[in-house]
Amino acid sequence: MDYPHLLAPLTVAGYTLRNRLVMGSMHTGLEDRARDYPRLAAYFAERARGGAALLVTGGIAPNRAGWIAPFAGKLSTRREVGRHRLVAEAVHAEGARICLQILHTGRYGYHPLIVSASAERAPINRFRPRALTRAGIESQIDAFVRCAELAREAGYDGVEIMGSEGYFINQFLAPRTNRRRDEWGGSRENRARLALEIVRRTRSAVGPDFILMFRISCLDLVEQGSRFDDTAWLARSLADVGVDLLNTGIGWHEARVPTIAGMVPRAAFSWVTRRLREVSPVPVVATNRINDPAVAERVLARGDADLVSMARPLLADPYWLAKAAAGREREINTCIACNQACLDHVFRKQRASCLVNPRAAYETELVLRPARRPRRIAVVGGGPAGLACAAACAERGHRVTLFEREAELGGQIRYARAVPGKEEFHETLRYFGARLAALGVEVRLGVTATTDGLTEQAFEQVVLASGVRARTPAIEGIDHPKVITYPELLGGQRVAGRRVAIIGAGGIGFDVATFLTAPALLPAKADRPADAVPLEPYLDEWGIDRTLGCAGGLSEPRPPDPPRTVWLLQRTPGRLGRTLGATTGWIHRRVLQQRGVVMQGGVRYRRIDDAGLHIEVDGRQETLEVDHVVVCAGQESVTDLAAGLAERGIRQTLIGGARLAAELDAERAIREGFELAVALD
Ligand code: NAP
Ligand code: SF4
Repeated sequence: MDYPHLLAPLTVAGYTLRNRLVMGSMHTGLEDRARDYPRLAAYFAERARGGAALLVTGGIAPNRAGWIAPFAGKLSTRREVGRHRLVAEAVHAEGARICLQILHTGRYGYHPLIVSASAERAPINRFRPRALTRAGIESQIDAFVRCAELAREAGYDGVEIMGSEGYFINQFLAPRTNRRRDEWGGSRENRARLALEIVRRTRSAVGPDFILMFRISCLDLVEQGSRFDDTAWLARSLADVGVDLLNTGIGWHEARVPTIAGMVPRAAFSWVTRRLREVSPVPVVATNRINDPAVAERVLARGDADLVSMARPLLADPYWLAKAAAGREREINTCIACNQACLDHVFRKQRASCLVNPRAAYETELVLRPARRPRRIAVVGGGPAGLACAAACAERGHRVTLFEREAELGGQIRYARAVPGKEEFHETLRYFGARLAALGVEVRLGVTATTDGLTEQAFEQVVLASGVRARTPAIEGIDHPKVITYPELLGGQRVAGRRVAIIGAGGIGFDVATFLTAPALLPAKADRPADAVPLEPYLDEWGIDRTLGCAGGLSEPRPPDPPRTVWLLQRTPGRLGRTLGATTGWIHRRVLQQRGVVMQGGVRYRRIDDAGLHIEVDGRQETLEVDHVVVCAGQESVTDLAAGLAERGIRQTLIGGARLAAELDAERAIREGFELAVALD
């Protein structure tokens, strides 16, 4: 496919951007310590080499009050300029442009120094901000201006002023958080004064030939948020005082509407960007869930935006643009919007990386060098661990044969992709399939590897990535015809009735409950591609106002009628879903609540028979009269070959679920596969 719109250059503030791809701001954790800046420079250099035209750094605070957390990245003194110069120079060497994002967190900062328009605590923070005095506001504006001047000194081509996602500037803009009665609050002109003064004074300090991008909140998705009319007025006013580009922000961090997770359809908000573009005198950038070149081209071709921004998709594949431009789209490692290794890591104060690309933010540490001595390697198992290992070994020049007992690659990913909201896993399988073919890996599907076979073929190294099998819990009646395993259900071999109990409420129990309660409009089909997920049911389920007439862009949610009654059960007492991801767990819980799923902890399973599932909770016995019981009780490692290979003295390494079934997940599996390939020599 051709991408005439995506690949067209654009001139902004005198700079020619080589195409329409912006790498959006994303915190990696490398911004926070001076000693990590060489790593940060390598991370950005790789994305620039991969073709992005304009990159934006993670959020950098203009002062201590604006810190995201104590000692997080900041640019307020000349002493901090040198480390930033490394980043800007590395990007320029690869022919791209880079802006520093100035992020003042306001009441979202996780420390006691925080300030805001009013002294109102955010529902997602335990610290209460101090309401700024007039002089205090002036000093925050000075800090923004100073930060932009220092960014220019460091060699950046511009700054992005973060005015969305519920951060400091947004807190002044929205009536929700601005209760002031002076000239900085009340009317929309007063609430916008901070944003406009920051831009006006920054422009006058940095001069004309420096990109000023402003991230404007198009939809706050919180009560008492801004109205779109006010946002449109703000967009025009920002352009009047010197903004060159408007990037779009969707949803505050405290919003209870998912805006970037997997269940959000691709490019779900480009219709909002289009409305902004209709009134904006300057180019606008579309964001959120754009992860595919054909989608990006469509967004640009129909005039929704002038540029597209993506951050996570470039963590997943720095060469996204280069591959699209070369017609190698099938080799793009697509971001699956899981948040597991990027945002969830940042939330836990770990360095961000990527589930499908463990090299992300580890560019200087995980290097696939050509093998000193190419070996004959057998990889047993075509799940995520085996796929990652086989591809990375082949990239190093090893001769790799991959054995998969099933007729298709994917292992547990084949089940995950059937779950509504996880359709992007199709792309992971497409990517690995294309990659293995391009690298010349011999893939032997439908072949069960044996010790004899591996010995006869004289492999020098065997990688045992034989994965897991679903655990069968010792419950009376577990072999009753009502019982379905999750692989049978998600693999399409069996269909559940209208009343279903699920044994086990880990990640897969939640997935199965989501699958079973998916509305008729979203048929739970294993083969539905991510591109075919419709927008309307998502907007309805989460109450996103399509008219853009309501405050904050919120309307009444209209959750679908679930086609089944479902009980989700676990033995551990207390709230379900504690092990789910930090940034997505609340979404999974809310989906199931909205669909009426009964979630019960502290359950003792007594037996399964024709009447249903007999349980005991708090000493009370109960029979759930269900048509089917789906078992999601975890997994056990499959290591059948390990002992035989050890006896023959064949070099072997266990990875992924075969090594450890507890806490199995695709992130660890892919990372272990990749790291083994880096280490093999
Ligand atoms: P899991 O998270 O370990 O959960 C297993 C569930 O089965 C638990 O709720 C456990 O609860 C129950 N269980 C364990 N042994 C049992 C037994 N003998 N009898 C009855 N119930 C038993 O495993 P999973 O749900 O299969 O998920 C596997 C991994 O995939 C997870 O660790 C996760 O990392 C990953 N995953 C993640 C997501 C995500 O959204 N991030 C989604 C899917 C999978 P009780 O012991 O309390 O009964
Ligand atoms: Fe995308 Fe998941 Fe990678 Fe984050 S961890 S960049 S969401 S694939």
